[in-house]
This record gives sequence, C-alpha cells and structure tokens, in this order.
Amino acid sequence: MKSLPYFCRGEVIRGFGRGSKELGIPTANFPDSVVEHLPADISTGIYYGWACVGSGDIYKMVMSIGWNPYYKNTKKSMETHVIHTFKEDFYGEILSVVMVGYIRPERSYDSLEALISAINNDIEEAKVQLDQPERLKLKTDNFFSSAPHCPPPSTTAAPSIMNGH
Ligand code: ADP
Ligand code: MG
Repeated sequence: MKSLPYFCRGEVIRGFGRGSKELGIPTANFPDSVVEHLPADISTGIYYGWACVGSGDIYKMVMSIGWNPYYKNTKKSMETHVIHTFKEDFYGEILSVVMVGYIRPERSYDSLEALISAINNDIEEAKVQLDQPERLKLKTDNFFSSAPHCPPPSTTAAPSIMNGH
C-alpha cells in the first residue's frame, strides 16, 4: 500500500454502540469527513500505528477499517483502539493517528471469544511491529507535535486532514 504511512486526524464521534467497550476493547470512531479522504489503495482490514488524543501522549494503536453495517455497508468506518487505559472517555477530542502497517483483512467470527482473541492477537502484533526502529521513528513525527488540544470552534464541521505534510 503506497499510501502508508498515512497521517490523519479528526474529532472522536459516537459510534453505533456495538459494545466494543463492553468487550474491553473500546474503539474511537472518526467522522465520515475523515473516512471519505482515505486513499483508494487503503483497503479494509486491520492496521497498526501511533495515536494521540488532543495534545496528549503518543500510544500504539490498532485500527479497523470496515464496511459500516449501519449504512448497509455503503460507507466505511475507521475505528481506533488506543493501546492505553484512559481514565475517561474522550468524545469530542481530536484524535491524531498515523497508520503505519497492515495486519490482516476483515473477517467474521463464529463466536465472541474468537473475535476477542483475534483482536488481542492484533494488539500483540502491533506492539511488536511498532518497536522496530523504522516504525518507532514515526512516533516522533512533527505531525504529532502539531496536534490541537480540542476542536477549534470554526472548524468543528471540517476537521483538518493531513497527509504527506
Ligand atoms: P462507540 O460505539 O461510541 O465508539 P465504544 O464502546 O467503541 O463506543 O467506546 C469508544 C469510546 O471509548 C471512544 O470514543 C473513547 O471516548 C473511549 N475510549 C476510552 N479508552 C479508549 C481507548 N483505549 N481506545 C479508544 N477509545 C477509548
Ligand atoms: Mg467504537
């Protein structure tokens, strides 16, 4: 995928209550405006990378890009699980991410246990991959130091999207 690494940021919006948090794996959703800017060669599936909420610390993440059942699979969704335990939810904050690499395509699971164990494998894979020097370097990219604290009032309807910077 020639568009990787791919940098983007946007407001964290409410998802569709599919209970990710109840599974112990909350996923922060990006609005359509961010999803619609995804380059065509970024296929659906699971990615790993770095993420930062507001101007906070930078953590490892796994992201799922999938067809959104809420829109009868006509729209994609981008859901980021930040590999960190936060004290509070961060709806409305700006999430900045760099997608670094691809783990696997989407698939469906026979049981909740199988799904959870697949996600936990993805998290372990992300941790290992991101410790490699080339991938660790992206953590210190200027993109993150320019991360805004909260959505500027005039641009809440159009979150900034950056790539290639
Ligand atoms: P929703 O359906 O609204 O996306 P989730 O159950 O997936 O609900 O929970 C996602 C929300 O949980 C995020 O929007 C964020 O505010 C919060 N959250 C707390 N910890 C994390 C984390 N480690 N990664 C992602 N989101 C988190
Ligand atoms: Mg979610």
